[in-house]
Amino acid sequence: MLIVQKYGGSSVANTERIFNVANRIIEYYKQGHDVIVVLSAQGDTTDDLIEKVKEISKSPSKREMDMLLSTGEQQSVALMAIALTEMGYPCISLNAAQVGMITTADYGNARIKKIKTERIKREIERKNIVLVTGFQGINNFDDITTLGRGGSDTTAVAIAAALHADKCEIYTDVDGVYTADPRVVKNARKIKEITYHEMLELASLGAKVLHNRSVELAKKYNVELVVRSSLTKAEGTIVKGGFNMEKMSVSGIAGDDKVARVALIGIDDTPGKAFEVFNALAKGNINVDLIIQSIGHEGKKDISFTIDTDALEDTKKIINNNIDRLGVKVVDFEQDLAKVSIVGAGMATDAGVASSMFEAMFDAHINIHMISTSDIKISILVNKADMKKAMCALHDKFALQY
Ligand code: ADP
Ligand code: ASP
Ligand code: MG
Repeated sequence: MLIVQKYGGSSVANTERIFNVANRIIEYYKQGHDVIVVLSAQGDTTDDLIEKVKEISKSPSKREMDMLLSTGEQQSVALMAIALTEMGYPCISLNAAQVGMITTADYGNARIKKIKTERIKREIERKNIVLVTGFQGINNFDDITTLGRGGSDTTAVAIAAALHADKCEIYTDVDGVYTADPRVVKNARKIKEITYHEMLELASLGAKVLHNRSVELAKKYNVELVVRSSLTKAEGTIVKGGFNMEKMSVSGIAGDDKVARVALIGIDDTPGKAFEVFNALAKGNINVDLIIQSIGHEGKKDISFTIDTDALEDTKKIINNNIDRLGVKVVDFEQDLAKVSIVGAGMATDAGVASSMFEAMFDAHINIHMISTSDIKISILVNKADMKKAMCALHDKFALQY
């Protein structure tokens, strides 16, 4: 069997954890399987590198950021190779350039275009355990790129898809996907199986247990994923295609506390203004999430939208450069907000879900700033300080606990 395993940062955080993972890898290898292992940077390495940069520059070059952040993963694979060699097992570590992990040129948010599988296949034929850096790629200029925070999951799924692996296991510090982040909602319940569709929504709405693009890829190439703990033997959660037979109205809750809101007040109420705003943002590679436009009054209207807080500085620059052209009177930037979402495939046919959600917020005295709905989710914008309370209240309301 060809098995792809990915171990996250906390699973390889220190020497003891590296040996723990090495033992798990060896267990599979000794059973005669071909094993490819994708690793993340140890513990908080990536965050620490970002903090180091903040001491030097407010607007570092994105190319140089990727050059720096990719070093964490390279440390992990080399350390793991050294550990496995010490234990007497044949292995080799490979970075993105050595694998041929070709991505788009977008530093900090690159997408995988192609994986040249020859090198990995050759190493597997030699019976090596192959250790691959997660999160990084190389672009057409032979420069190092990264796939966005949490991107090692996507590296693993992409390799599993390219090599038609029999198994793709994502090892992390919780023993599966829960109905809500178990660190926030204490009585959250482990989900045995979840569809790609629901998992994609949860991941995109803030459940960082899986990188959303890894779920997108898994769905596209039909790679069945197992999310498990690297510290226990507990059975994990299976993420796969098909239908959710139970069609629960609400199957999970996600929170994202890195949300900023931009309000453009008093824009000219003429055709094309929304296009001008969002076209300028799109050109600047800014992902816009919730959008609200007010009804016009006396020739003016207001448009508010949310973005990731990491994009706030770039967004401010773009908006400030366009204020006069848009005829905006006041611009208001607000941080310290959070998006809380409920996800469920059965929501589309259950008319009472939205009202129950708002009732739970009313009972918990939580003010809702923005609302967005689709057939599989409802998201609300609340103050960051209210996020945990909102998630717990919704978890209780929809009776998702044990
Ligand atoms: P890794 O370093 O292994 O990639 P992450 O920190 O990226 O780990 O993701 C695991 C974390 O995701 C957990 O520690 C948990 O706090 C968080 N999380 C958020 N939502 C969920 C959820 N619905 N189920 C499980 N974990 C979740
Ligand atoms: N080390 C990277 C990060 O912290 C990638 C990952 O962990 O998946 O975002
Ligand atoms: Mg992760």
